[in-house]
Amino acid sequence: MNQDWQGALMRRLLLLLAGCLLIGLITGEYAWALAVGLAGYVGWTLHQMRRLLRWLKRSQPDEPPPDSHGLWGEIFDNLYQLQRRDLRLRGQLQAVIDRVQGSTTALKDAVIMLDSDGNLEWWNPAAERLLGLKKPDTGHPVTNMVRHPSFKEYFDSGRHEEPLELSSPVNDRLWLQVTITRYGNSEHLMVVRDITRLHLLEQMRKDFVANVSHELRTPLTVIAGYLETMLEHTDEMNPRWSRALQQMNQQAGRMQHLLNDLLLLAKLEATSPPTNTQPVAVAGLLQSIKSDALALSAERNHDITLEADPTLLLKGSEAELRSAFSNLIFNAVKYTPAGGVIQIRWWCNEHGAHLAVQDSGIGIESKHLPRLTERFYRVDSSRASNTGGTGLGLAIVKHVLLRHQGRLDVNSTPGKGSIFTCHFPLSQASVQ
Ligand code: ADP
Repeated sequence: MNQDWQGALMRRLLLLLAGCLLIGLITGEYAWALAVGLAGYVGWTLHQMRRLLRWLKRSQPDEPPPDSHGLWGEIFDNLYQLQRRDLRLRGQLQAVIDRVQGSTTALKDAVIMLDSDGNLEWWNPAAERLLGLKKPDTGHPVTNMVRHPSFKEYFDSGRHEEPLELSSPVNDRLWLQVTITRYGNSEHLMVVRDITRLHLLEQMRKDFVANVSHELRTPLTVIAGYLETMLEHTDEMNPRWSRALQQMNQQAGRMQHLLNDLLLLAKLEATSPPTNTQPVAVAGLLQSIKSDALALSAERNHDITLEADPTLLLKGSEAELRSAFSNLIFNAVKYTPAGGVIQIRWWCNEHGAHLAVQDSGIGIESKHLPRLTERFYRVDSSRASNTGGTGLGLAIVKHVLLRHQGRLDVNSTPGKGSIFTCHFPLSQASVQ
């Protein structure tokens, strides 16, 4: 093929040259004959270029190129092949896009594509139902369409490892779970699931636990009250009964402790985090918890030290922080053998404010660490019942920290001891 058009071109040029020479021989004007011949050739070439340009401009996908021969015929044919191949590939690509769009249209979950600035690019019909998006919203920032303060905060934070739960902007009885994934040139893919059923079930579970705990509190207070009164008169009683009463009193105390922890957890889950509260003087708070810890340690004589920056305050609820910090410090006392060392430190650096509770106690095997903050999770159930624990302490710590934008870090070596560290962002801390 290549050879063909080259041969044809050579033949044509030779023919043109021969023609010019012949005319030159007849007229005696070789130069003119050559000039006229070349001008004719250039004119023909320009004419072919014009035809090509006209054909390209008309750009009807199926229209064949104009007829031509030689080099120009070859160019026309090749361009036509390229155009057809391009068309075929485009058709295949369109078929893939149609299939993807078809399947996402059938999805119950909303799928939304956003550009790198968070502007809406494309979404499926479920997004219209769950978020109320409409055609004219294309190109608008998603945070203008889903007007929810927690959504804006979540979107702007850029931290999307955990999904966000919020009520639907079109129907506040619908509960949605939003997941955002970054792809390509930092575009965002947002997937929104309807979790109303799950949310209702979770709500029922929370209400049930809160109601049961609340209902059990009154009868238990009465029982504990009578037990205490009876224990005041043990000298008039058969000694066998006095031991039984003491155990009943101890177990009633444990149950009260458990109910209080359950109610506290229910409250932490049901209410919104404290705002506009006075910053808490953590050093003073830790000092008072340390005194309680010394009382708890009693004859076990732990060496408890406290190093706290007295100028460093923390925004939040004093009652909640007291409960979280005392859980950590009392655990250190409970799980450290007599005479052990417990260090409490409260300080601030460029990463934030930190509270560390370090003990030289029995430690925890690393396989338990990820599950420690689950409710009722115990490393060793016999160990916990000896110490009178409820199994809810670290769950309370986790919830309180979440409400104060903090997080818990646990490091432990069995037989050597543990360090529980609470990290708070600088935005939560202030210096007096
Ligand atoms: P509990 O009321 O049983 O202490 P927590 O939620 O406070 O429940 O703690 C969960 C489990 O973590 C405990 O049962 C205990 O096994 C372990 N644990 C907590 N703190 C410590 C610690 N300082 N040293 C060793 N084990 C600990």
